[in-house]
Amino acid sequence: MTTTLVLGGLSMANAQEKTKPEQTEIYTPVPKVVEAKGVFTAPPSDAIVLFDGKDLNKWVTTDDRTKPAKWTVGNGVFTVNKKTGGGNIETQQSFGNYQLHIEWQVPANVQGKGQGRGNSGLFLASIGKGDAGYELQILDSYKNDTYTNGQAASIYKQLVPLANPTNKPGEWNSYDIVWTAPTFNDDKSVKTPARVTVLFNGVLVQDNAELKGPTQYIGDPAYRQAHGPAPIKLQSHGDPSEPLSFRNIWIREL
Ligand code: MG
Repeated sequence: MTTTLVLGGLSMANAQEKTKPEQTEIYTPVPKVVEAKGVFTAPPSDAIVLFDGKDLNKWVTTDDRTKPAKWTVGNGVFTVNKKTGGGNIETQQSFGNYQLHIEWQVPANVQGKGQGRGNSGLFLASIGKGDAGYELQILDSYKNDTYTNGQAASIYKQLVPLANPTNKPGEWNSYDIVWTAPTFNDDKSVKTPARVTVLFNGVLVQDNAELKGPTQYIGDPAYRQAHGPAPIKLQSHGDPSEPLSFRNIWIREL
């Protein structure tokens, strides 16, 4: 079914009753596996450093932006804190169009499979509490099958990556992202959709791809909410596996 004209919470709830999460999962063709070691890039002179290895001062708790981010910092990295971390975290600052670099690592002892194995996510624009926004999936996709539009470097439930260069657990991965934010008309309809380019360990996996709207777990994505510049968010996913770590995050506003 299409949900183009769905407006408001009640209509949304009705649509979701008729639609199951599995209906928007894609399984074939499977993106080819590519070996690539990843790219560590020091911040350019005009970059805003979002994490320099020392503290999370540029981050807040998504569900209560008055609270500092409580994930665990140590040894030059920070790690998702599922127990007392208060859920997702996001940048204090909002961004429109940008270039972003981030590195992430799934722990070597990760357990679980599919979406329950090293699941996090980078929301290219956070447009509300919880998981509201446009999710670039972070997942252990090294010899770990799942739906292709849910594997690492997918735009979750929407855009399948062009290749799978995921390194094995315990090794670092890099994303280099160019994000073009959506724009909206005065009547709040979409004027120009969001676009994204992603290099994953130096390999092109999203090529100026157009988004149909924010990530939606159930049903079809669509632009239902006009918004301007937005924070960048990291996901504390509820999967039972050991949590991921991040390092070297910087951004250039475009
Ligand atoms: Mg995720």
